[in-house]
Parts: sequence; C-alpha cells; structure tokens
Amino acid sequence: MAEIGIFRLLKRLVVWTLIIGGCWLYFTNSQIQAASTAMIWNFRQRIVNLIGNGDDTSTQSLNLSDSSQKNEQTSQQKTDSTTIPTNGRWATNTATIYVNTGNKTLDSAAQSAIQQWNQTGAFTFRPVNSSQQAEIVVSAMDNDSTNAAGLTKTSSNSINNHFVHANVYLNQRYLLDPEYGYDQQRIVNTAEHELGHAIGLDHTKQVSVMQPAGSFYTIQPGDIQAVKKLYATN
Ligand SMILES: [Zn+2]
Repeated sequence: MAEIGIFRLLKRLVVWTLIIGGCWLYFTNSQIQAASTAMIWNFRQRIVNLIGNGDDTSTQSLNLSDSSQKNEQTSQQKTDSTTIPTNGRWATNTATIYVNTGNKTLDSAAQSAIQQWNQTGAFTFRPVNSSQQAEIVVSAMDNDSTNAAGLTKTSSNSINNHFVHANVYLNQRYLLDPEYGYDQQRIVNTAEHELGHAIGLDHTKQVSVMQPAGSFYTIQPGDIQAVKKLYATN
C-alpha cells in the first residue's frame, strides 16, 4: 500500500512539473506563445466560417472561401456574352483545361481537383499544354480586397447560353497563409468547388462541394447527380 502511495505522489509531482514547465515555456518562449495565439485565432476563424455556412446574409463578410461571377463580359472575347444571370454550361460535358498557378501546392491541388471530377464520369476536364488552347484556365491571385479564397469567371454565348471560356482563380493570400488554416484537403476542396462553377454548378445549402463556404466538403453524390442533370440534354 505504501508503495502505491509513493507512486501516486511521484505521479502527481510529474504532472505538476509538466504543468508548471508548460506555463513557464508559454511565458518565456515568444515563438510558442505566438504559435498558440495563432492556433486560437485559427479556431475562431473556423467557427466564424462554420457559422457563416448556411447563412446567406453573413457569407458576404464572413465567407473566406469563394465567390463566383457569371457571364462576365471580357474584352478579348469576340463571342457574345450575356449579363443575364442564368445558369450556363458547356456544349458537352467536356472542356479543355490549363493549370498554371506558379505555386506547387496550388498546382497539385488543382490537378487533384481535376482528377476527382474526372473520376465521377459526369464531366471530363482535358488538360492541354498552353492557356491559348484551353477553354478553362486555372491561375492564382493574391488578393486581400476580397473575402474569396477562389473565384470563377465564365463567359457565355448569349444565343445558346453555352460557356465559351472560364477563368478560375485560387487566392493564395488565404489558401497559402497558415493563419487561415487551409490544409491540403481544404485547398483541394476549394479547387473542386471552383471547377464546379466552371462546369456550371451554382451554390447550394445541401451537403455539397458547392456550399458557399466551399472548402469543407469534397465532391458529394448529389454534386455528381447535379452535373449529370445539367448535361442530360443537348
Ligand atoms: Zn462558389
């Protein structure tokens, strides 16, 4: 019995030493302090994002994930663009794509997103070797004047409403800054979300890669159905 008593005392001593040691480290090591402050901040940021999820009014200011601009008029496009905000899509469920973000992490996230969509069989992105050959161009932006972690602009033919070109931007300002807590999976989810817009999908509040805060889900069965439905007719 005495042995157990000593053992418990020793155990308590060890625990207290660890706690005191932990506090001491916290107050004396500014790097650890900064890291834990950043962790707390990230956690708050995540909660804000989650709260912002299903709420249209708050997503504008709180959603760091994405925004999309449809049917944007571009000067180089000789084809007609429409400003009517109706759903667009490509003529068929396939489009050529070129990825060049200038960053390894973003490039590989975009490549994974392409693979994931291609595996669904609902839409096929065909990689090409230059932006001139591509219907969809994926690049990076470094922009803190927007809350968006990604942005997709599409140009459409006004007669048949088919897309003629799309630009997908991944915002490195948020995606690559550890303060915002984007791990590789969330960056891939963001790229899948933007490619979803480039296919012609809109936001939904369902469990979907197309939730307005577009980084929490990968492609869901409902998303595949939505693409199949969008391209069911010619
Ligand atoms: Zn979006």
